[in-house]
Amino acid sequence: MAATASMTWLDPFLGDWRPGTGAPVDDTEPATGIVLASIPQSTTDDVARAAAAAAAVQPAWAETDYQERARILRRAADIYDAHRPEFGTWTMRETGAVHSKMHHEQNFAYHEILNAATMPSQAYGSLMPSAQRGRLSMVRRVPVGVVGAITPWNSPTVLGMRVVAPALALGNAVVLKPDPQTPVSGGAIFAAVFREAGLPEGLLQIVLGGADIGEAVVTDPNVSMVSFTGSTAAGRRVGQLAGGLLKKVSLELGGNNAFVVLDDAELDAAASAGAFASFQFQGQVCFAAGRHIVHRSIAADYIAALSAKAKRLRLGDPYREDVQLGPIVNAKQLARVDGIVRRSVDGGARLTEGGTYDGLYYRPTVLADVTTDMPAWTDEIFGPVAPVTTFDSDDEAVRLANASEYGLVAAIYTRSISRGMALANRIRSGMIHVNDGTLNDEAVIPFGGMGISGNGSRFGGAANFDEFTEWQWVTVRDTPPTFPF
Ligand code: NAD
Repeated sequence: MAATASMTWLDPFLGDWRPGTGAPVDDTEPATGIVLASIPQSTTDDVARAAAAAAAVQPAWAETDYQERARILRRAADIYDAHRPEFGTWTMRETGAVHSKMHHEQNFAYHEILNAATMPSQAYGSLMPSAQRGRLSMVRRVPVGVVGAITPWNSPTVLGMRVVAPALALGNAVVLKPDPQTPVSGGAIFAAVFREAGLPEGLLQIVLGGADIGEAVVTDPNVSMVSFTGSTAAGRRVGQLAGGLLKKVSLELGGNNAFVVLDDAELDAAASAGAFASFQFQGQVCFAAGRHIVHRSIAADYIAALSAKAKRLRLGDPYREDVQLGPIVNAKQLARVDGIVRRSVDGGARLTEGGTYDGLYYRPTVLADVTTDMPAWTDEIFGPVAPVTTFDSDDEAVRLANASEYGLVAAIYTRSISRGMALANRIRSGMIHVNDGTLNDEAVIPFGGMGISGNGSRFGGAANFDEFTEWQWVTVRDTPPTFPF
């Protein structure tokens, strides 16, 4: 593989890295079209080999003492931390992230590892009462075995790390399949960091490819659980396959998130948060603000403020220039975003800013007068578009916020905390922020959505124990009981 980006520590590793026996596929930078690397992809046979190898070494890892597992994770955190500059370069170049987005992702991934390093030493069971005399009864959490992790391109390092680090910490092996657009920031980095950290060979397997390779991971008999992050459409398919095989499956899917601005909100703060929530990373995040729901009395001012902010944002190559927004990840996605804007405008939405593009660079766009039947309302846009709809009462704001099958995150802006809480109590969403943006996550928080944003699973904090282990009841008697047969 020829790595053309200027690397140091990863270079020798990337030179040797053969994640699959299939044909090489180009890893192309969206901002420039430059081919960064050409990496052999995995075949379905490679997936079978990877899962079998992972399953073979997992039991010994599960029995490895907790101090050793924690030590390897702490070393992985240090190694990750030490190599942030070159890892960040890959993230920016593979995804089109600007510096601030890349740093945020790196910081987050680092804390995912640190947090996971605390997990092996935590108690994971209870002594239970028993109705049977002389019986010692306990329940404990045991590793699920091999976790199949499938991740998207948009935050490849943190979305991979939030599975890989806790799953390993709790005694599992992992087969990780990143998106084909991020083989290095979603795949190679993990292999290099954990190898250097001393993780026993075979425990972390990386396979590369698209949906067919993802499905091979889901259906492989050695993979006992699937942790999928991606679109709702692909998640449905993964859920069906895993369900048919009676496998545990975690689905963290799309969002179309409500950003509610009440009439007593501080307008500048709301517009600033609203702009960031819709435009940061070109809107290509699951927790972007997809629907701005604004009180009619302040809507004109809010739309003007949002449009002025959109107009000022500088677009360009995020790696080389001091810019605020980079490219849309590929031409297909850009056409999709533009199609949603066009069809909404044809349906009566008012374009107050943006709606144009140059190459893969889509101008941040504000749509006013959006109604609930327009694609700008119904669809997850995954582009830098802020659709605005107005309301007259708090009841109507709640009704509009809940008028989506998605339920990942919501934000409410108001000067009245009690009014904000009252609304939060009525909005169906996995995460709700009062007087804060939708782009929020912390490694210690159970992150995830309701409705079609997932299947009830969560990532982070205590939820990681639920996700990556399962209950086992164990009883012990000194003297076997007598039975009637
Ligand atoms: P995607 O669903 O197209 O792809 C995600 C991953 O799934 C990729 O690795 C892809 O190769 C794989 N895949 C696709 N079809 C598959 C199949 N049939 N079987 C197995 N694997 C398959 O999503 P994307 O476009 O890469 O990412 C964007 C989506 O991810 C958005 O909908 C976004 O909201 C969502 N997302 C959700 C979260 C969250 O935590 N809820 C976080 C980030 C992104």
